[in-house]
Amino acid sequence: GGIGCELLKTLVLSGFSNITVIDMDTIEVSNLNRQFLFRRRHVGQSKAKVAREASLRINPKAKIVAHHANIKEDQFDVDFFKSFDCVLNGLDNLEARRHVNRMALAASVPLVESGTAGYRGQVTVHIKGETECFECQPKPIPKKYPVCTIRNTPDKPIHCIVWAKDLLFPRLFGGEAVGAEAEREDEGKNGGEDEGKDRSDIEVSERAEGQPAVEYGCVVLREVYGDAIARLAAVEDMWKDREPPTPLSSDVIAAGRAIVQGRARGGDDKVPTSASLALGLSDSHATWSAEQSAAVFLMAVEILLDGHADRVGKLGFDKEFPLSVDFVTAASNLRSHCYGIEPKSSFDVKGMAGNIIHAIATTNAIISGLIVLEAQKLLLRGLRQDDDGATLTPWTTFVQHNPTGGRLLQRIKPLPPNPKCYVCSKAQVVMEANTGLMTLGRLVDDVLRKALAFAEPTVTVGSTMHYECGDDLEEDERERYDALRKRSLGDLPGDPIGHGSLVQVEDFSQEMSVELLVCHREPREGEDPDFFEVKGEVKGQDGGRGGEDEPEGEGDSDSDDLCVVEEAVGEKRKGAGQEEPAKRQRAS
Ligand SMILES: [Zn+2]
Repeated sequence: GGIGCELLKTLVLSGFSNITVIDMDTIEVSNLNRQFLFRRRHVGQSKAKVAREASLRINPKAKIVAHHANIKEDQFDVDFFKSFDCVLNGLDNLEARRHVNRMALAASVPLVESGTAGYRGQVTVHIKGETECFECQPKPIPKKYPVCTIRNTPDKPIHCIVWAKDLLFPRLFGGEAVGAEAEREDEGKNGGEDEGKDRSDIEVSERAEGQPAVEYGCVVLREVYGDAIARLAAVEDMWKDREPPTPLSSDVIAAGRAIVQGRARGGDDKVPTSASLALGLSDSHATWSAEQSAAVFLMAVEILLDGHADRVGKLGFDKEFPLSVDFVTAASNLRSHCYGIEPKSSFDVKGMAGNIIHAIATTNAIISGLIVLEAQKLLLRGLRQDDDGATLTPWTTFVQHNPTGGRLLQRIKPLPPNPKCYVCSKAQVVMEANTGLMTLGRLVDDVLRKALAFAEPTVTVGSTMHYECGDDLEEDERERYDALRKRSLGDLPGDPIGHGSLVQVEDFSQEMSVELLVCHREPREGEDPDFFEVKGEVKGQDGGRGGEDEPEGEGDSDSDDLCVVEEAVGEKRKGAGQEEPAKRQRAS
């Protein structure tokens, strides 16, 4: 993806000549604005294969093997990993990062891990026994939203806010909508090929000559919230598992227009700074009715188009620009209204819209350069054993959003392995659960696979094997394990799992094993009766605070998903450059 393209280019330009590339994705139009090895004609093809061909044009002598495949497949086993001098990650999800971390540990191959989030980025080197592994420190998980959710099937307020801010606002007042640039580039040449596919832009009429802005606003409301939603609702396939949206009624639009036209005007002809204030909606914590949202929408359209005519076409969302906050609040709430989603106050929208992060190609390029520097040092370490090591020290490097003292990059020495890490230090994992209620199936699926990131766990207590999985199981074994999955832990035959049980969990694909100490307890008041708590796991599986501190866990660049850093609305955004290293040292 975003890092991968930059990385492969920089590797071949730096003289690396034996490279294997793995990527399961195919190229999409929306990748083209930052994944520079790809062109419009490659859309739909394997990223790994096209990237290989493009890199071979840069250095025809390089030996590059491309796999259009998932890194978690069996073909990429520990022996496969052992065949490399180092592994360079440009991944976009935590699950794959954890898997590669384990494979690299099992194969004793150094891993250079990377991630970017907007202007921030991070490169870390993981060397078994020498530096911490990827899972030695807890990783927060950012919230991400697929682009099709934003465009067609929102089910949360944030989806509608992203749509209003990144698609509708730029369409009406800015230059290009986000992601639309690449889309338009070749449109003329291709004569409408791929029509209707992956369309970034919102279809809306242009304002007619001399048309009053409020009337034009009504046209936009009818087209975007009426006609377009009605067309979408008619696509039956899309609504098999969810409620279709309801087009905005013309009554709401008419009521909004009436509010705008009936407003009390000030004595002077100054352009109002805020649409909501001009309409007397002064409580920023209040949520507006659909009619009020329609009114603010129309009012904001009028003020922006007529009062800021010189800036139209160049405007971008700015959370300090009240008109853009008003517009995005009204536009997102109207969309929420159509989709049956709760509305948000302008105060909330301001906070949520201000924290949306987009991939930045330059950050990917800087990070890729740093990855190659670390890779070069790793290879030289193998060749120059007599070196005093000083010049070949691996570094964890941060690309900072707000450079301190003129320094864009901040580096720290990698931390040593965490003795409490169950992945690289074989520390025991403690699980609290209600063993009378928790089934073996839940233990395997939710604790071992999800929370502890095992791929193919086997479960043994004492001399009893309670569970194993894999393609090579006999039919009767499979049936036996399926039956056991439904039993509670305390009810398992042979050696049941209860308070104080030591469960051996082994994963042959990851060459990893863990000892799980089970502590039975009854649920606390208000707690899910089938709760579990794992100590020693990577925190944040169920969400939690966004990934502001550790870009490592993110990797927005590789997907077209939008990464949203959520924080308490109104909380001061932290921007001090020294922050990341300081925080990590404290954590140690
Ligand atoms: Zn570790």
